[in-house]
Amino acid sequence: MMTQARATDGDTRRHVLIVGAGFAGLWAAQALRGKGMRVTLLDRQNYHTFLPLLYQVAAAELGPTEIAYPVRAVLRRNSDVDFRMGELRSVDPRRRRVSTDQEELSYDDLILAMGATTNYFGVEGAEERAFPLRTMDEAVPLRHHILSRFERAVHEEDPELRRRLLTFTIVGGGATGVEFSGALAELVHGPLQRDYPTLNLDRGKGGCVRILLLEAMDQLLGGMPGKLADYARDRLEERGVEVRLETPVSAVADDGVVLEGGERILSDTVVWTGGVQGAPGPADWGLPTDGLGRVRVRPTLEVEGFDGIWVAGDLAYLEDEEGRPLPGVAPVAIQQGSHVARNLEMRARGDALKPFRYKDPGMLAVVGRNAAVARVAGRSFKGFPAWILWLLIHVAKLIGFRNRLLVLVNWAWNYIFPKRAVRLILPDGRASTPQPGVRKEAEGVERAESFTHGTIP
Ligand SMILES: Cc1cc2nc3c(=O)[nH]c(=O)nc-3n(C[C@H](O)[C@H](O)[C@H](O)COP(=O)(O)OP(=O)(O)OC[C@H]3O[C@@H](n4cnc5c(N)ncnc54)[C@H](O)[C@@H]3O)c2cc1C
Repeated sequence: MMTQARATDGDTRRHVLIVGAGFAGLWAAQALRGKGMRVTLLDRQNYHTFLPLLYQVAAAELGPTEIAYPVRAVLRRNSDVDFRMGELRSVDPRRRRVSTDQEELSYDDLILAMGATTNYFGVEGAEERAFPLRTMDEAVPLRHHILSRFERAVHEEDPELRRRLLTFTIVGGGATGVEFSGALAELVHGPLQRDYPTLNLDRGKGGCVRILLLEAMDQLLGGMPGKLADYARDRLEERGVEVRLETPVSAVADDGVVLEGGERILSDTVVWTGGVQGAPGPADWGLPTDGLGRVRVRPTLEVEGFDGIWVAGDLAYLEDEEGRPLPGVAPVAIQQGSHVARNLEMRARGDALKPFRYKDPGMLAVVGRNAAVARVAGRSFKGFPAWILWLLIHVAKLIGFRNRLLVLVNWAWNYIFPKRAVRLILPDGRASTPQPGVRKEAEGVERAESFTHGTIP
């Protein structure tokens, strides 16, 4: 039901409305604590997700509760912030009001931090048939779908159909594609190989499982030095992933993918990690956007011509001093969220606003057990040292002591006894079928069974 703008109980403080409790929005809200402003934080979920570990949820390595944290718990000690669960539907910059699926809200300053969504680049059938991997409610159905392929394969007598059930195609060799295919290979050739003795899950010839990573460009991990990308490719291949470079996909069909050039790969699971675009909305509200729907911002992170509207994180388009667009990564979002808060404070004091300068902490990607690549402070690392660095950084950045502890314990357990704790197919992932509509069915299943709790399970 739509209600009017919320009562302020005579509160005359400037009202800052933040949309999105991801890295940018949550960090902005925390940085505004004690700055004399009234803050409302809006998100369609009641939890913050640590997206860098999302692929481990999809690969049955971690459970959703280990990488998500209720927003109200994060803000418990921040009395300046009021959290609202709801979805932003429209912005009226002239009246300084927004509509959500629940209510109308007014603002003095609006920080848009809704992040990004999957970009299918118009590839035929991709949006309808491939699994995206950007949110928790995409990762969990994907995990159920993958695990249920193995249960189905046990019953399948036709070797061709069995092969198709157990062919997993990942489209996009960026960090998410590399990390997910590596984790999937470890799941399949580790715990699942022991769970399914009647299926031949051996690597290489004779085995009935296939994991493909398709990349349109001529290297994995675009932006990483070529040597590190080659290392990642070699380690993936050792783990049983077929890496194919310069292999653009032209369509996703009911029975698999079609490559440019016409080759067809029969595959019951297509995971799309091929690209991102800004969250929908800003162009409809008249904000200036780039070709990928990201909002063009001034160096101060305000939107030109829209007084009081700021954008931070994946949704913002800003170039660095050398004219290169800032990447869509967590450190940019965190720093920008904090920067908008600082600029709001400066303006309240009558000081000049500061331009945003990105402090790049480096790049990291993990291929699997003992294998990662890192580019930090101009130096390249690979193998075990990069893997340890990756582990430490990710655990340190997780929100919540309990989550850090659980992730550490889970990883240590998996390391010593290569098992995966989260191998349950909850009701009713086994009903998903290799026929059209697989993705929709799996999504519906998950929404029904798992997100009925007050907080993330
Ligand atoms: C699978 C995956 C792996 C990644 N791995 C890494 C990594 O290893 N290292 C790294 O640095 N970066 C990584 N990234 C990128 C990083 O997570 C993003 O750059 C970062 O999350 C951007 O932060 P943000 O606040 O802009 O958006 P997000 O963190 O995506 O937050 C956006 C928030 O807005 C909410 N929202 C969206 N639309 C609406 C609406 N209409 N109404 C209300 N709420 C809305 C969402 O629910 C969400 O909570 C990864 C991303 C993904 C998807």
